[in-house]
Amino acid sequence: MPTEREAARLFYDTLMYTQWLSRQDIEAYQRQQLSQLLHHAAHTTSFYRDRLSKVLLQSGRVDWDRWHEVPVLTRSDVRSRQAEMTSSAIPQVHGRLTQVSTSGTSGVPITVTATRLADIARNVARWRLHSWHELDWSKPMALALGQDPGKSVWPDGRVFKPWGPYWVSHRGLRHVIEVITPVDRLVEWLNRTGAAYFTAMPVTLAAVAEESVRQGKQIKLGATISFGMQARPEYRRVVQERLDVPIIEVYGSEECGPIAMQCRKGALHINSELVRVEIVDDDGSPCPPGVQGRVIVTVLHNAAQPLIRYEQGDLAALAESCDCGLQLPVLGPVSGRIRHLFQFGEGGRFMPSGHVTTEIVGAHLRASWYQIAQTGLNRVEVRFVSPANLSEADLEHSRHAFRTSMGGKDIDIVHKRFDSPPLKPGQKYIEFVNEHAPPDT
Ligand SMILES: [Zn+2]
Repeated sequence: MPTEREAARLFYDTLMYTQWLSRQDIEAYQRQQLSQLLHHAAHTTSFYRDRLSKVLLQSGRVDWDRWHEVPVLTRSDVRSRQAEMTSSAIPQVHGRLTQVSTSGTSGVPITVTATRLADIARNVARWRLHSWHELDWSKPMALALGQDPGKSVWPDGRVFKPWGPYWVSHRGLRHVIEVITPVDRLVEWLNRTGAAYFTAMPVTLAAVAEESVRQGKQIKLGATISFGMQARPEYRRVVQERLDVPIIEVYGSEECGPIAMQCRKGALHINSELVRVEIVDDDGSPCPPGVQGRVIVTVLHNAAQPLIRYEQGDLAALAESCDCGLQLPVLGPVSGRIRHLFQFGEGGRFMPSGHVTTEIVGAHLRASWYQIAQTGLNRVEVRFVSPANLSEADLEHSRHAFRTSMGGKDIDIVHKRFDSPPLKPGQKYIEFVNEHAPPDT
């Protein structure tokens, strides 16, 4: 059995080869991976046994012509039937299990069980992205992330093992700081770490770019990488103008990993060896290229809790192919998650943590939906839907946790409970909405 490092190397070499194959060969490779996942899911979960019966033939073959008859997996399926869709026989070779929690683009929190192999697949995809842009793995990488709240705090953050692949001899370290770190401190920290690259949400990247000019502190970066929401043109423009580097966009989600990544020509190429992406209309029929529809994702390497035809909650269109040479299919702009920066009193602007918020509303409010709004200079409204009987102690725990996560003793946290999400028809869900000082765009 190969070691984890050997497996990662093999996986990486495979991706660096398959990306140049023809569309047909990439599709054939994907079907091979998918076929294994389908058999595994049908044989080791009660949830998928019936769902996949139409495509899995007696002979063991897959009837790809009936693929669209496999029901779309919704977030509420994942929420309410997690036990049924968790495999009873996860291959040991796939490694230890982890849990990922997220609210996605709808405010409905879910938790998904994943394997070490699924983690490796994500790392390998990131290395492929770095290779596309010729990033130098020997240099330090800075990241503003939501994990480990309270541990990667300013001024020092935390230093983790290198971000490049195992087989590179000189590898730069990963400098991680909490996602909620105010933008003025991020500028100071980036200068101090001497990071060559900075990974953060695009709204944070743009705010850092503006803040560095305001402070008269030039940050010297080779590139920025964005995740978590669409790198809209206005963010790209600010970062290019103020920091003189591009934003390299990664479109993905906690539960599915990196779904599509930006090439040197600016196109979002789908990681077809890791995920199958379909764009479908309201009736579930495939959309032709250029026509926007719902993003449906099948994750090929998570044997613990297979996500097959999972409704990601975003809208996008397939695009024309790109002339960069990569044969991986291309996605047009994805309209997905929206988040605003918050700012309290005299403090700096910052991005609230999605991870922490999902945990708080899960633990204390048992919420099936939420939205966090800044409604005053020092006031936050926690809007939520919950089927639970909540005590005053639950609400007090929630208030305390939110106050801590937003870094302010003086912040007034107000709970507003609803029977159903209080969004008007067609109104876009914004996870963190700043109604006190709404952004211009
Ligand atoms: Zn391209």
